[in-house]
Amino acid sequence: MKQEISELDELLSMLFPICRSLTGDGNRETFRILQEVAPIGIIEYPSGAPIYDWEIPDEWNIHDAFIKDKLGNRLVDFRKSNLHVMGYSEPIHQWMTFAEIEPHLHCLESAPDAIPYRTSYYQRDWGFCVTKAQYDDLKSYRDRFEIKIDSEFDKNGSMTVGEIVVQGELPTEYLVSTYCCHPSMANDNLSGLLTALFLARDCLSGSKPKYSWRFIFVPETIGALAYLSHNENALKMVKGGLVITTCGGPGRLGYKESFLKEHLVDRATRLAFRDQGRDPVHYPFVPDGSDERQYSSPAFRIPTITITKDKYYEYPDYHTSCDNLDFVNGAQIFESLSLYRHVIKILDENTTYLSNFPNGEPQLGRRGLYPTTGGAINQPAMDSLCSDASDIDAIMWIMFFSDGKHDLLEIAEKSGISADRVLEAGNKLESAGLVRSVHL
Ligand code: ZN
Repeated sequence: MKQEISELDELLSMLFPICRSLTGDGNRETFRILQEVAPIGIIEYPSGAPIYDWEIPDEWNIHDAFIKDKLGNRLVDFRKSNLHVMGYSEPIHQWMTFAEIEPHLHCLESAPDAIPYRTSYYQRDWGFCVTKAQYDDLKSYRDRFEIKIDSEFDKNGSMTVGEIVVQGELPTEYLVSTYCCHPSMANDNLSGLLTALFLARDCLSGSKPKYSWRFIFVPETIGALAYLSHNENALKMVKGGLVITTCGGPGRLGYKESFLKEHLVDRATRLAFRDQGRDPVHYPFVPDGSDERQYSSPAFRIPTITITKDKYYEYPDYHTSCDNLDFVNGAQIFESLSLYRHVIKILDENTTYLSNFPNGEPQLGRRGLYPTTGGAINQPAMDSLCSDASDIDAIMWIMFFSDGKHDLLEIAEKSGISADRVLEAGNKLESAGLVRSVHL
């Protein structure tokens, strides 16, 4: 745990300064760093390609930007924070008065120390984002400023996305998606990138998962749409998904439900919270938010949940320079990661059993699954494979519901026994030949 937390902290500091956007070299550099942790496959979708009702934008790269006074002092400096430039700003190099610059300046009255995050992806424009103090300072000058945005658009460029598909024993597939398009902000969305990355690494290590798991790292909206359009048939078959975002703040954990509310992904999430003794802020489904807007759209209807820790829209530093490494750290991300891990474990190991001995109860004691000393029920059973009484309870519950109609997840819900214990007891019963899995 400690090692993973310091690994997360190290990755946060490497990734934080990089200028990411919908497209560009910052995204590629980000993927190169992520690839040191897990083997993300890179796909480049060409600029200009139509995607449903959209189009892949021209590739945008930026090298430098500033507002200088007449003495050459950089009053606003892209090198100090890439948030100072509105994302997808067109290039400009001119001498201008404050009145001329002012329509292109963005600052926040409500958070005077913060640089706001602004983009103009689909309408060509340019802009600078500044603190209130910088705004007031610029306003006090009488002279012209030298302003420069050294950016470029490439019609022959591309949009970079990443994927890892882990084939399971069964073809049924789950989706894990996060986005990679935000510049220097930590909760939105380095926390999501790193959580998805660690989950993908988990899935690749150890034994083969039962289900297939598709991890994708895409620019928000247009990246998700492009990926859907290139993988339409596969994505229409996906059983459920996790959309990972804003899960590394200091605040309370949260859970945004899927549009179905009672889907397996919802129930697995609620069990993970219950079993970890955590009480999340509950966010009912609304058709806004992140890429669930695309995955759950009418043609795909993938139910997805999101676990957050300081959810987007909800924290005061959202989409500002204050969403930084003072606000987010590896230990906080690790808390969300543990819950996501738990959800994936429950979903992947969930199954429905049919009893091989449905006529009455099978004799458990003979198979080491029940205390052989009479009267020991509800007391620790040291002479059997059961580590304690609740193992026996789990076994009894599973045998009772091994009728092909009730899955282990439902048994954990009904019995109040932890999902981990129910899954473990199921494995014991399967190994002892008492039940067999049916995949519905
Ligand atoms: Zn955002």
